[in-house]
Amino acid sequence: MQDSQVPILRLSQGHLNLLELCPRKFQHTFLEKLSSPLNPEYEEKQKLGSRFHLLMQQQEMGLPISTFLQEDEKLGQLMTAFAKAAPEILAPNITPNNSEAFRESEHYRTLQIKNNLLTVIYDLLIADEQQAQILDWKTYANPPSRRHLEQNWQTLLYIFVLAETSDYLPENISMTYWFVQSKDKPQSMKFTYSTSQHEKIRKKLTQLLTRLSNYLENYYQSQEFEFPQIPESSKTCKNCNYFTRCYGDYTEANLDGSDSINRIDANLLNVANIQEVSL
Ligand code: SF4
Repeated sequence: MQDSQVPILRLSQGHLNLLELCPRKFQHTFLEKLSSPLNPEYEEKQKLGSRFHLLMQQQEMGLPISTFLQEDEKLGQLMTAFAKAAPEILAPNITPNNSEAFRESEHYRTLQIKNNLLTVIYDLLIADEQQAQILDWKTYANPPSRRHLEQNWQTLLYIFVLAETSDYLPENISMTYWFVQSKDKPQSMKFTYSTSQHEKIRKKLTQLLTRLSNYLENYYQSQEFEFPQIPESSKTCKNCNYFTRCYGDYTEANLDGSDSINRIDANLLNVANIQEVSL
């Protein structure tokens, strides 16, 4: 299939992270949508994260938030602690340069590379004439290591896309994560950027997208083709919901009903039917 005939594939950092972690998992999760039920504890944490993001968005838009805070004690605690730790973020139009700033929550940007539409949504973008800051809220309790975050596609893609789609030099772009539920008080982790990092990411991204394009081409040309697996002994496999399907005693005969339907659906898919992978 020619590139020009392949529909646009919308990709977020989550897709890139999963593709890099395990291509087969990407196939099952996004192409065949074989998702498993969420762990209730994780689901609860996700809800808190969504509520906090909504609250910050309301606040940024100048809408009243007091009712939310009164009704949700946990949210109130998080917001109070965050306001104390980072008053400058909640104060509009104040930047480190003390100049007027552009601010937008849930700021959406895309960058097209061949048939991939790379999509990012910044929790908050603050930009003035000299610099642009991307801010991201995290509501889980234990911040990951700096090393982990600097290799994560969220960091890489978010900064890369801004550098590619704006006039800011990479050196004038930063990304800061705020862990609003850290043990004692909210903590932040800031990543600065440079032209050499930008070029490294471009190379890494090009390689990953080329791999994806090759996998997809094979996947839709042959019913037998499956995206590559990673070694069974890896920690990722041990914690993976698809372990039985990949390495266990898995046959079509022991699929449950819903799984079968998904598998059949997947077999009926072709590239022409796949407009995008949802975020
Ligand atoms: S079990 Fe391992 S190879 Fe299979 S999808 Fe999961 S991580 Fe990938």
